[in-house]
Formats: sequence, C-alpha cells, structure tokens
Amino acid sequence: MPTPWRPFASYNLWLQFAPPIGQERWHCDMKRGFTKARSREPLVATLLATDTTPQRIGLLAQRGVYEFHQDPLMLYRSDAVTKVAEILQLNQESAVVQERVISILKNYYSNPILFGKNIIKLSRGDEGFPEPILIEQGNYQFNLFAAIDCIFKEQDGTLHILDFKTGQTDFDRRQAYVYLLAASFLYPTQPAVASFYNLENQKWSDPITATASHLNAFQIEMARISQQHQKDLQRYRHSPSEFKRIFPPNPGINCQYCPFNSICSFSELEVSA
Ligand code: SF4
Repeated sequence: MPTPWRPFASYNLWLQFAPPIGQERWHCDMKRGFTKARSREPLVATLLATDTTPQRIGLLAQRGVYEFHQDPLMLYRSDAVTKVAEILQLNQESAVVQERVISILKNYYSNPILFGKNIIKLSRGDEGFPEPILIEQGNYQFNLFAAIDCIFKEQDGTLHILDFKTGQTDFDRRQAYVYLLAASFLYPTQPAVASFYNLENQKWSDPITATASHLNAFQIEMARISQQHQKDLQRYRHSPSEFKRIFPPNPGINCQYCPFNSICSFSELEVSA
C-alpha cells in the first residue's frame, strides 16, 4: 500500500527556517522558497540536482568512511587510501574535491574512529530519503526525516549516533536533538547520545544527550516548523507573485555561495564580487 502523503519536518528544513546561532547574516529565507516551493521549475530543478563542491566533498567523505568498513581487512592494508580512492573514482572529480577527499581518507586511515566499534548502521551517504518516522503531536501528524550517518553501540549498551562533518562549519546542536528525537521513536527502549566528528580537522564533539522533556519540546518545535512550512507552500501556490514576501530575500555576501544566485533577481553577486 502506498504511504499516505503527510507534512514533514527535518533538521534540514529547520536549518532553512532558522540559521544556527552566529550565522544569521548568512541566512536567506528565499533559498527555502527555491528549494521547496519552486523545485519543479526546470531551472531550479537543474540547480538542485547539481552538487556544490562542499556537498560533493561531504558525500565522498561519508562514502569513503563506509568503504573503509565494508571489507574487514581494508584498514589493515597499507594501500587502503589508494584503494578507497579508486572505489570512489576520485580521479573523475575536480582537483579541489580530489585534494580535500584524499586528505580526509588519509586522516581517517590514520585515526579510524569506528574501528573495533559495534556498528549498527553506517550509511553510504547516497541512499536518498530515509524512512519517515510518523509523529503525532496532538491531532497533527507529520513525518520526521532524519538521515543518520552512523550508529554504534557503546559497551554499556548506549546507542551513539554519530554525524560526520567536513569543512569549517560549527556543530549545530539542534541536529543532534533531531537525531535523538528520531532515536526515541526508532529505539524507544535504548538510551542514546549523539555527537559530531569532523573528518577534516578530526575534532569530535562531546556526546549530547536530551531528557524526555527536552525531546518533547523539540517535537513541538518540529511540528510547528512543519505546519508553518505547509502554510507558506499553500500561500505560494495560491499567490505565486507573493514569492518574495512569503520567502523574503536577504541579499548580501551570502549570495556568492548561494546555488540560486544565477536565477535570483535579488542576488548581489556583482556588488560583492
Ligand atoms: S542569491 Fe542571495 S538573495 Fe537570492 S536566494 Fe540566494 S542568498 Fe537569497
């Protein structure tokens, strides 16, 4: 039976509504408009289908970690980095992607943080949408999507949800809370912690936990975001000419890194270039 359509929420949607603390000046609500309300327009669809360099590096890094753990002997091989680079077909990537990903593979090979761990789940990074988790908040139902990179079991039985990072962005604790909320539905009887590990600078965050009342507060917030997003989509469908009022632009230096700068009439690319 096909799964019925439901409104949704995810960390990614939350991020498109509200930036992490300290990154407010980079935030632009119009990006959410392009990504979610206008994704079927051919030009927007083409832009959305193209990975940016940071996205490509993130995907290949995740896939690299996955490949290191597919063959139990891989991490014992002296040529493991070359072997994984071949599996990833790194030679077909741009020079900057190749350089960064090779460095990530070397880092991981020298400090394989999952080695010897009881890994329950390790994603390749290209699986697409995760299974939705149905959440009922009062009489409102929505699907929570949480694309978890890795889960391993600590020796005391605690589930450890690990999110791999690349680049220089700071960890956003909200993402950890979304994962912990997801884990409370997927593994309701097991205690869980979440952490972030940056594959480039090899920094591992402290484990983050959440009490039941914290999780409840996050669930309410996710339901609110989901509802608000659906309202915005409906408003746009009803009045497409109101696009800029429903999803206000925030032009500035951030336009330089925005995937929609070639089609956005508010882009300040020339000014900042
Ligand atoms: S180009 Fe600038 S104003 Fe337009 S969506 Fe991107 S960040 Fe917002």
